[in-house]
This record gives sequence, structure tokens and C-alpha cells, in this order.
Amino acid sequence: MNLTLDEIRDFKGKYPTQIWNLFFSEMWERFCFYGMRGMLVVFMISQLGFGEEKANLQYGATQAFVYAFTFVGGLFADKILGFRKSLFWGGLLMIAGSIILSLNPHDYFFFGISFTIIGTGFFKPNISTMVGKLYRSGDTRTDAGFTLFYAGINLGALLGGYFCVAIGQGDVFSDYIPHDKTWNIAFSLAAVVMVISLINFVFTQKKLGPIGLQPGHPLSDQPERKIKKWQEIAVYIGTLAIIPLIMTMVSVPQYTNYFMYIVGPLTLLYLLYEMTKVTPAERNKLIAALVFIIFSIIFWGIYEQSGGSLSIFAAKNLNRDLFNLNPNGVNNSGGAFFILLLAVPLGLLWIWLGKRKIEPNTIIKFGLGFLFLGLGYYVIFATRYFANSLGITSLSIFTIALFIITLGEMCLSPIGLSIMTKLSTNKLQGVMMGMWFLASAYGQYVAGIIGAQMATAKEGSSNYDALITYTEGYKQLGLYSVIAGVLLIIISPYVRKLMQDVK
Ligand code: GLN
Repeated sequence: MNLTLDEIRDFKGKYPTQIWNLFFSEMWERFCFYGMRGMLVVFMISQLGFGEEKANLQYGATQAFVYAFTFVGGLFADKILGFRKSLFWGGLLMIAGSIILSLNPHDYFFFGISFTIIGTGFFKPNISTMVGKLYRSGDTRTDAGFTLFYAGINLGALLGGYFCVAIGQGDVFSDYIPHDKTWNIAFSLAAVVMVISLINFVFTQKKLGPIGLQPGHPLSDQPERKIKKWQEIAVYIGTLAIIPLIMTMVSVPQYTNYFMYIVGPLTLLYLLYEMTKVTPAERNKLIAALVFIIFSIIFWGIYEQSGGSLSIFAAKNLNRDLFNLNPNGVNNSGGAFFILLLAVPLGLLWIWLGKRKIEPNTIIKFGLGFLFLGLGYYVIFATRYFANSLGITSLSIFTIALFIITLGEMCLSPIGLSIMTKLSTNKLQGVMMGMWFLASAYGQYVAGIIGAQMATAKEGSSNYDALITYTEGYKQLGLYSVIAGVLLIIISPYVRKLMQDVK
């Protein structure tokens, strides 16, 4: 069955069938990724004997590197491998990383993690780009598709984030797993699900027609470009050769600072260079994409408090007035839960509005994303008014805030993936998607800095003081989000001009 692009894109109904295949591959990949991510800090503290601060810095560095390498993955997909081969190569590297960790996580920790970092770089941006390829430009169903795909991401995140660390800590299946092997099994689970992801992708490929084929393939959209076999092999060898370097960089957290200072400006320069090679109309679209990318750094910088300062806030200042749930559990998984709840209705809402020609355009959706984010942080601020004299306040109110923040995420994150595929030229699809995720690396980085600044509650201060200090910080973040949202809405006419026919 060799489908043409038109046959794929002329699908009836709300979603193309291929999106379900990509949904499942991405779901298992996110299971592996978030499973690994959920284990990092706990493993470093309980098994490698790191102090809390070192483990947190190390965690931040890993996150920054993971998302920074998406640029590399996107770049080589565009230039040499195509999306499918990149994804497959990334998946293999992630499997290798998980296997290394499952065999001997104590001695080969950073070695295994480095495989995961570069593997995610090759996998993550390129599967997202392929989702965009399922749609014709101007199809009003695109955002709904990405919103559905985003549910797959979060289903994987929720399951992986829960099971891997629970197995590692011996909380589940402990009757079947020898207690000195729990971490090995947890890491091998990450490997197994990644194998499932790739097997699923092998079957998916048949239905993708020409999508994601290597440049130069006669059926690809760039048949004229000839890629030599040695170039492809050089990418594979180069990836492996760079692993010791990643290992060194990720194991010394201060290197992250240097890395972040250098990588962003370099990629920007590279993009400027690429911009000289396109038509003025294409250049304007790329500039518009850059506006979205820059704003997304601000968004993630504020949003990503969830992994840092908000987890401390949850542990110290929240009660259990919501079904007696654990506040940290709610903080860690509430967002994913709400996304699963919202993805389909919100997607259908976009389609419904699209049919009536009243769907807000992307820049307004981004603006709304910031307004919801801001409102959510104001609600967290307001938890101080429900606190007792010990500084303990309501988990239920906090959960309402989480719901509002997640609404904001849904207006920005899947829509951002979607708009990257619409604004990029054909030859820069991978690079632009890589840049979108690179912005997340900076977001994580900024989030760490903001979180550290907020944690300045003086030593010896009471729990109530901590509540006041933190909520004051969240009020500030709320204000910044609202300002960013309003700014986006004000500049929307200009950005829309740059976007031209893209909505
Ligand atoms: N949570 C989403 C994912 O894992 C978005 C990540 C991001 O862009 N920061 O894909």
C-alpha cells in the first residue's frame, strides 16, 4: 500500500488515521523518557549518594541537554537522514541508554543517560514534524490533531512517570522483583517500552506514504537532493563519538551554564544564515516562528516551576483536603491528568470554531496560554488566604490553579508544535522543530534560576514565612505571564502580517 501525500491529507472525519500510530510511538517514547526523568533525582540521592542540591543541579543539567540536542536531531533529519531514519536512530540510542542503565545503573549512570539525551534529540522533534506532514497547509483540523497527539505524550508521561520510579523504589510488584534488582528492572522497563515504540513505528511507516523519507529518495519531497551513504554513516558514527563529550558536560553541572551561553546564540546565527537562502515571504514566516519560540522560553520558564519550587511548596505548605491525595503526587501528575481530560474536547472545540471561521489564530491562542498561566499563578498566590497559622493551605485550591495552568499549556504547547510545521520552509522543518524544543531547554534553565531565587526564605524562618515568600514569588510570575499575554495580543497584527496565509 503506497499512499500518496494527497491520499493521506484528504482524510475524512476529524483526525487522519496515521495520527494514532504516531500517537502510540510517541506515547511509549514519553513513557521511557518521563520514566527515566522521574527516576533521576531519586536514584542519584538514594543510590549514588548525591546531596539534594547536587542532584537537583544534575537533574536540571540533564533536562537542558535533552532539549538542547533536539536541535541537532532536527538539523540532521533535514540535511541527511530524513525524519524516519532520525526517529529510528534516536529510538535505538534510547534503547541502548536504558539497557546500559538496566545492566549497571550505579557504575554507568552518566554513560547511559548520555545515550538517552542524544537519542531523545533524534526522536522527539522529528516525530512531531511528521504529525504536521499529515495535514495540508490551511487544514483547520491541524491544531486538533496536535492536541490529540499531546494527549499521547501525557498518557506516556503519566504512566512512565508513575511506574518506573515506583518499581525502582520497590513500591509496586515487589513480590516479584528481588529487592536489590528493582532499579535494574525499572530501567529495563524503559528499554522495553522504547522497543514497543519502535516496533509500532515500523508498522506505521507503511501508512506514511512519502512522509519522512530521506532526502534524495525518489518518492521523497526532495528527490533531487542526493545524500551519500557515507554521510549517513558519518552521522551515526559522529553521534556515538560525541557521547563521551556529553557525558563530561552533563556530569559537571557548571558546564551547563557555558553550554547554554554558547548554544543559543550559535543556533540563532545558524538560523540567520539559513534565512539568507530563502525568499522574503519565507523569511517573514521564519521570523514569526522565532517570535513564538522566544515567547515559549518565557512560558516554560514560568511553567516549569512545577518540577522545582512548586514541589517544595507542595511538600511544605499544602494539606490533603482533596480526597486525601498526596500534594506532591497531585503536583507531579495533575497536569497530565487534566491534559488527558481536555485534549479531545478542546480539539473538537478548535474544529467547531474553525468550521464557523471564528477559531482564534495561533498568536491569540498563545496570548490566551499566557493569560491562563498568569491566572493560575494568581490562584496559587491566593492560597495564602486559605492558610492556617502554620502556613498550611488548601490542596483543592492549588488543584484549581493547576487546571487553569494546564488550560494555558494546551493553548500554547501543542499549538506551538503545529505552528512550527506551518511556518517552516520544507527544508527547515526539523531545524525549526528542534529550535522549538531548544526553547524548552532554556525554559527549564530559566525555571531553575527563578526557583533558586525564590528559595531564599531565610534559615530558621517559619513555615508560614515560607508560604508568604513563595506565594509572593508566584504573584510576580502571574504578573509577568499576564504582561507577556497582553503583549502578544498587542503585537498580534504585526505577527499575523509576517505569517501571511498561515493562521
Ligand atoms: N510535556 C511536553 C512533552 O514532553 C512538552 C515539553 C516541552 O516542550 N517542554 O512533549
